[in-house]
Amino acid sequence: MNAELLRQYLEFYQDLGIRTLYKRSGTDACVSQPAPHATHGSGASHDLSHDRQGVVSGEIVTPEVREVVPDMAPAGDTLIAIRNDIGDCKRCRLHEGRNKIVFGVGSQRAPLVFVGEGPGADEDAQGIPFVGRAGQLLTQMIEGTAKKEGIALTREDVYICNVVKCRPPGNRTPEPDEMEICGQFLYRQLMAIRPKAVCAMGGTAARAVTGHKEGVTKLRGKWFQWRDLPVMVTYHPSYLLRPYNQDAKREAWEDLKKVLHFVYD
Ligand code: URA
Repeated sequence: MNAELLRQYLEFYQDLGIRTLYKRSGTDACVSQPAPHATHGSGASHDLSHDRQGVVSGEIVTPEVREVVPDMAPAGDTLIAIRNDIGDCKRCRLHEGRNKIVFGVGSQRAPLVFVGEGPGADEDAQGIPFVGRAGQLLTQMIEGTAKKEGIALTREDVYICNVVKCRPPGNRTPEPDEMEICGQFLYRQLMAIRPKAVCAMGGTAARAVTGHKEGVTKLRGKWFQWRDLPVMVTYHPSYLLRPYNQDAKREAWEDLKKVLHFVYD
């Protein structure tokens, strides 16, 4: 394995939240299979350090270089396989207080994925993301905005999930290690679905998917890129439920319009 290929593998594992790799004694490589290389796309060589979590300046249209990033997710990965791998997860402390794992809802063929932070009480009880008050607002926003924009779309047409799959106690923000452990499953979900775009809602989702640490007010309304997927950052619906956030509500509607037109036009 040459240095460049090794770098790509390490970057991929980093995307999956894996920070430590162990080398088996008596072998000279952690990964034995060569990465599949792109067979289509523009064919242009492409610097991964630029496309991996970089801000895409201005509006982006369909990215030119979709297939140049080696696909190192498990071959033929599916949402069912990912859910099976999660199993009755006890990988982090969040399992201690959960009722149900909230994996995600929607089709593997959904062209648009919404990512939130983590389940709340209603989601924990039902095992379905965004079914409480914030979820009702999200549904209203998706369906209402689509209707106004002349796009035939219901909540069932998109995929919805969270960075962490178990409810943090008292709805606290997930800790970095919890995000890191559970993030590997989010990244596999995104790789398995390969949507046209991802909408990261709120600071936690924005941090997990774009890698940027700035607050959501700085990041919202802009396109980023995670691997080869365009990512739009916007406010979390819970934030929009607060009565004094009328400006944020208007901005979130603008962000959503951008995403919907990008995906469905
Ligand atoms: N907030 C989230 O971030 N996710 C949910 O599923 C519900 C509320």
